[in-house]
Amino acid sequence: MALVSTNKKRIFLSPPHMSGKEQWYVNEAFRTNWVAPLGPNVDQFEQEMAKYSGTKGALATNSGTAAIHLALMQLGVGRGDIVFCSTLTFVASANPIVYQEAEPVFIDSDEDSWNMSPQALERAFIEAKKENRLPKAVLIVHLYGQNAKMDELSALCSHYGVPIIEDAAESLGTEYKGKKSGSFGEFGIYSFNGNKIITTSGGGMLISNEIEKLDKARNIASQAREPVPYYQHETTGYNYRMSNVLAGIGLAQLAVLDERVEAKRALFVRYKESLECLDGINFMPEVEGGKSNRWLTTLTIDEAVTGINISELIIALEKENIEARHVWKPLHAQPLFKGCQYVAHCEGDSVSERLFERGLCLPSGTGMAVDEQDRVIAVIEQYYAKSRKRQGGRICRSW
Ligand SMILES: *Cc1c(COP(=O)(O)O)cnc(C)c1O
Repeated sequence: MALVSTNKKRIFLSPPHMSGKEQWYVNEAFRTNWVAPLGPNVDQFEQEMAKYSGTKGALATNSGTAAIHLALMQLGVGRGDIVFCSTLTFVASANPIVYQEAEPVFIDSDEDSWNMSPQALERAFIEAKKENRLPKAVLIVHLYGQNAKMDELSALCSHYGVPIIEDAAESLGTEYKGKKSGSFGEFGIYSFNGNKIITTSGGGMLISNEIEKLDKARNIASQAREPVPYYQHETTGYNYRMSNVLAGIGLAQLAVLDERVEAKRALFVRYKESLECLDGINFMPEVEGGKSNRWLTTLTIDEAVTGINISELIIALEKENIEARHVWKPLHAQPLFKGCQYVAHCEGDSVSERLFERGLCLPSGTGMAVDEQDRVIAVIEQYYAKSRKRQGGRICRSW
């Protein structure tokens, strides 16, 4: 097949997938004139999210980033404090650390979860303890739907007495040892951005078992007004709440979340069964005790074995009107965080950098048709065969 521009229908990475019920909630908000920040949809969405995640409370925000910011504030993170943070993640995980004028220390991934390496975290704690600079919080990201190894990570954090914030923006619906992703730490956050497993077009959620802290966050998120009859302010607040119209979209989306998880997992299995036989291609594993929502199907392609350069493959897919992306570039390697400390999995072995070099995210929309997924698979297979032939290598399958 010639890789030329095509008028084939575009296959997006992870487009919104409406259930059809969203419009009813939006109309209802209009009919009752609850076109406001806050209202009955927000209250109900918070209650249902707390129930779903198995926490005592939830606070709806206008983004996942805002929810992270609120969590950091509630844990007292301020100027000059240290926060340990997963390095292999989207920049939004760490930006709120900077909003608080605190300092991120980036922690490497391990091979089997792609998430924060317990080994690297332990090394970071030992070093920090020696220097008497323990972090104020540890921010653990659950990447692409994979839950981090919370047993090991939680044990380390509680040993050093440091609270955990879980960035579960990508892992809503994921389970780990019978509990929902995001419900392990002092705080967990979700995102309902347009590309996430369910969406409100834009929004987020802060969850916690600590109702008092959640109530304080609620106050800070609505301009920090004191409980007096006039406008009185003693701390700096933010305008971080979710609108009642958007919470209505969230209610309808939450009702189909479990279906979406199954659909994402089925997409992953199909990709894996089609492509894993190719030498040098490896799919993201699933941690022991975890059930990933497989938000995005991700895999690694070893250039030394396959001759495939990820950036070139992304361009080849683009020529077929298929959207694929690199795995997140580690934050410690971002110009923005130049000079920040980084703790690798082991001395001289940076797992996150290797995952970035080799990693690829495939289209994982839950509305994707089987023949669309076949299109993606076919382009990769053909590209692989050409690269291998050029290299004089063996191909494990013929077609
Ligand atoms: C999407 C995302 C966020 C930010 O969520 P927004 O709702 O877009 O602010 C944070 N962390 C990770 C890992 C994400 O993927």
